[in-house]
Amino acid sequence: MANRLEGKVAAVTGGDQGIGRAIVERLAAEGADVALCYRSNKAGADEVAAAVQKTGRKAAAVQCDVGKVAEGQRFVDEAVRLLGRIDILVNNAGLERRADFWDVTEPDYDAVLDVNLKGPFFLTQAFVKHRMQAKSGGKVINISSVHEELPFPHFASYCASKGGIKMLTRNLSIELAPLGITINSIAPGAIETPINKKLLNDPVKLKSLLENIPLKRLGKPEDVASVAAFLASSDADYVTGTTYFVDGGLTWNYEEQ
Ligand code: NAP
Repeated sequence: MANRLEGKVAAVTGGDQGIGRAIVERLAAEGADVALCYRSNKAGADEVAAAVQKTGRKAAAVQCDVGKVAEGQRFVDEAVRLLGRIDILVNNAGLERRADFWDVTEPDYDAVLDVNLKGPFFLTQAFVKHRMQAKSGGKVINISSVHEELPFPHFASYCASKGGIKMLTRNLSIELAPLGITINSIAPGAIETPINKKLLNDPVKLKSLLENIPLKRLGKPEDVASVAAFLASSDADYVTGTTYFVDGGLTWNYEEQ
């Protein structure tokens, strides 16, 4: 594996499982030290940190609810204290809540928007202040979703949060460029992770989904992690304000009958 991230430090939210875990392991495999945060899965987070340390890189697992601004700030502070600085921020933690639009409750709306949009907003702010103090650039990678573009009935709050991430990414690409900070999003399609537990256990739904994916398979967390590693590296120095779709062709799959 290329050592594109040698000497870099990354902070990844929701790094204890799923896509976040694959990103932590890929960034470390390319040479980065990594701080990861988790909400409740301490065992998973400790396992990921130990796996990274085994490869000779530094790793730290921090408990934090990214939906609370002060806790996100504490994650950034802790990561800097434990690993010296942060060059790369990956806003990956996320959740979804299914409900008909007319049944969405305020607590469920807040849970989704706080973790998927408010959290990345203020974590990025804390990261940017840290990089300004260090008088150096950096890279922000947001894990969005194909639902920053595609409707997802019964998941209105999720779509609103990811649509918000799309515009935050575009807006900040302009505002952060003078600071030497790039910001990009990755929009995964259907990836095999615990967030899709129900779908993975429903053969009928799974079959109909696969029929809509031109590459005829679900994505793996590693498919997303490899794009994150590219965006985190100097290979992507001239890339900012954009979204990479990692969806097997799902988003633009339309044929005239
Ligand atoms: P996942 O396996 O359910 O993992 C979600 C991660 O987010 C977990 O590490 C979880 O920590 C963390 N998290 C949730 N709420 C948190 C909070 N309040 N504070 C801190 N961490 C929190 O899901 P995934 O599929 O890997 O999803 C990762 C990202 O990819 C999300 O942003 C999701 O929207 C996006 N995405 C996924 C897919 C897909 O098909 N899988 C498709 C498009 C986009 P705990 O384990 O400790 O709770």
